[in-house]
Amino acid sequence: MKKVSLLIGPINQLVTAKSMPWRYGNDPLILENAGVAVDGEKILDVGPWDKISKEYQGKCSIPAEDNLVTAGLVDPHTHLLFAGSREDELELKLQGVPYEEILRRGGGIYRTVNTTVSASDSELKKTLLNRLFEVTKYGTTTIEVKSGYGIHPSQEIRLLRIINDASLGAPLDVVPTFLVHVPPRDMDRNEYIKAIVASLDQIKGLAKFVDVFCDEGAFSVAETREILRESSLRGFGLRLHADEIAYIGCSDLAREFDLSSIDHLLNLPERNVDLLSSRNTVATLLPITVLSLMTNKRPPIRRLRETGVPIALGSDFSPNSWSLNMQYVMELATYLLGMTPIEVLMASTVNAAYSLGFRDRGIVQPGYLADLVIWDVPNYRWLSYELGRNKALVVVKRGRILESTPMGTTISKECEY
Ligand SMILES: [Zn+2]
Repeated sequence: MKKVSLLIGPINQLVTAKSMPWRYGNDPLILENAGVAVDGEKILDVGPWDKISKEYQGKCSIPAEDNLVTAGLVDPHTHLLFAGSREDELELKLQGVPYEEILRRGGGIYRTVNTTVSASDSELKKTLLNRLFEVTKYGTTTIEVKSGYGIHPSQEIRLLRIINDASLGAPLDVVPTFLVHVPPRDMDRNEYIKAIVASLDQIKGLAKFVDVFCDEGAFSVAETREILRESSLRGFGLRLHADEIAYIGCSDLAREFDLSSIDHLLNLPERNVDLLSSRNTVATLLPITVLSLMTNKRPPIRRLRETGVPIALGSDFSPNSWSLNMQYVMELATYLLGMTPIEVLMASTVNAAYSLGFRDRGIVQPGYLADLVIWDVPNYRWLSYELGRNKALVVVKRGRILESTPMGTTISKECEY
């Protein structure tokens, strides 16, 4: 018998994609009475428990006969780093006060920019780390974190440094993205775009992706094109906030650039769906934002499926959209967007990982990272079905059980190595 660091089984149900990205209609792998052998950071073997239990002995063993096991969740779209909050704008939103008016009264995004710029580095790092620990309680094992509340290049560089610094102490993998969020109020727009482009060389090494908020009230198609082109030349991966508030041509940019992900898409014209499928761009949908915008608009799910566009889900955590819980995102994706339970699971694991450029996680197969969740539910449908309870029981990151997760502290000592 081969000794391994962690053995999970017997597992009631194990569900994973077979390959990445996952497209609607692809068969997932569903194993009943399964086992997973983990050695170090990686998955060594997956199969029927009969076979796995004969071949491997775990230094640490976790039975999961009543449980579902999946890959760890991946949140590919967050604005996790900011100071302050905006709960007092909720009544204004409910009264139907337009966002432009909230901005005029000193609220909205520029308010968060002020509180963030005024906060100290250590304060921001502490806030970010608290959030990074909290997300793992819900099963998130890899997360993207955008800058964007600094606006001025020097402040954005500061925020990216804080993200990189915090990630060293974080219990999960953090992917930093430089987000060109909103135009500053105290600077000419053309000058600002030039300053952003000039700062890209300094940002190299601090961010994996560049993202632009292309929309009405944010950056125009021409401005976004300029930033994407310069970023692409410098080897950054590209993401895009597009067609959220209105369609002004932003998703057309998927024709010109290899976007890893295009996000929001509440106003995506149907003709641009084919464009995404031909470019292999992931459509990242953000159902919590559908709630926080209080809109009846929905992304064109049916068309995205029909054309085989890989769909990912993200939290869009921000002062305007406050939830660190990817399970809540998954529940809303089902009940608000009409996504099926298997589609939701694939969108929150394999496809989210794929959109962040990872090819080593999001799948429970030999050779992949041992990022896993043991769920307090018997099968994958429950993840969509049951609302409002934290269903993660044990979260495993790179083969290690995270103590911050619900059952983490009660797992036996042998499980620490
Ligand atoms: Zn966003």
